[in-house]
Amino acid sequence: MRVAAIIAAAGQGRRFGSAVPKQLLRVGGRTLVERSIDAFAACDRVNEIVVALPADLHETIAAAFSGAAKPIRTVAGGERRQDSVANAFDAIAASTNVIVIHDAARAFVSPALIAKTIDAAFESGAAIAAMPSRDTVKQARAGAGGHLTISATLPRDEIFLAQTPQAFTRAVLADAVALGRSGVEATDEAMLAERAGHAVRIVESDASNMKITTPEDLTLAEAIIKANGQTTKAESARVGIGYDLHRLVAGRPLILGGVTIPFDRGPEGHSDGDAVCHALTDAVLGAVAAGDIGRHFPDTDPKWKNADSTRMLSAAASAARERGFLVQNADVVVVLERPKLLPHVDAMRASVARALGIADSRVSVKGKTNEGVDAIGRGEAIAVHAVVIMRRV
Ligand code: MG
Repeated sequence: MRVAAIIAAAGQGRRFGSAVPKQLLRVGGRTLVERSIDAFAACDRVNEIVVALPADLHETIAAAFSGAAKPIRTVAGGERRQDSVANAFDAIAASTNVIVIHDAARAFVSPALIAKTIDAAFESGAAIAAMPSRDTVKQARAGAGGHLTISATLPRDEIFLAQTPQAFTRAVLADAVALGRSGVEATDEAMLAERAGHAVRIVESDASNMKITTPEDLTLAEAIIKANGQTTKAESARVGIGYDLHRLVAGRPLILGGVTIPFDRGPEGHSDGDAVCHALTDAVLGAVAAGDIGRHFPDTDPKWKNADSTRMLSAAASAARERGFLVQNADVVVVLERPKLLPHVDAMRASVARALGIADSRVSVKGKTNEGVDAIGRGEAIAVHAVVIMRRV
């Protein structure tokens, strides 16, 4: 399944009465549009992200996400949300299976809700996140003397408040966009899909997927993230450190960062002995206080015998993502007397970046010798130090 996300962030935020467009307002140190993009970047279903923006914001957003692992493109937004979505739709490859649309003002959407909505749309053609009504719902109209008067009480269990994400197979969204272009006005894409005759499934949303529409909402949003322990810039980042050492013995391949390096010795160990992946795995797990490599991948488990350690690193990055953290960058020092690492450094960076799900430019690998001092200097062992910075999404 190939999935593209459209983030609609072209509004001018008129209801806010602020000089800054709403999507650039900051909550807990990050703008609303950045938080929305973060959530889609953290959702493993999503392959690419297209952000519809006012033209003067393209550079700001492009700069903020220059190092992202997923392609993030910007397109010019339109007057209404349906115009922005239509512009973005034109920029998405025909091979895309599902397109998921999101309003940047719902900056606290969870990767789990995004995934659920995408999966439902892939199965049924169209699905949206919606909240069941908790209150009794009244229909009212202007009555005598211009006062609003109840005309009906609607059955509450049939009432859902439509939100985003809204996901569609490409064919369904093509129909909806065509209908919108034919002059039909709609407040969301589901309405266009319904009008085009498609069934749209409801995926139950959660309270955190609030829309930030007024300054009061912003205050509430600050309170929510404070309660989640992510208010300040400092609190939104975590650092992790990792270390590993293996003896070098004859008859084992030398695998570092997932790359096999020609040499007459390699690390002793239960798995493939990849000390770069092991140190990084501990750094990632450490940053989110999720224990260590020995707990997650015990060397008593036959599953990990001679295992490719990039899989452990990927699993650690997934565990961190589940806790709401993305790797921002990684820096690695490999202490090894021989062979020279420099010819292999770029391949190691690329392989580690792939395992972590981030861009190569965010990974550094540096080779050092121990100048002949101690066991490492005599070539009897390899040691690796690793540091990562994680950012909360
Ligand atoms: Mg190890």
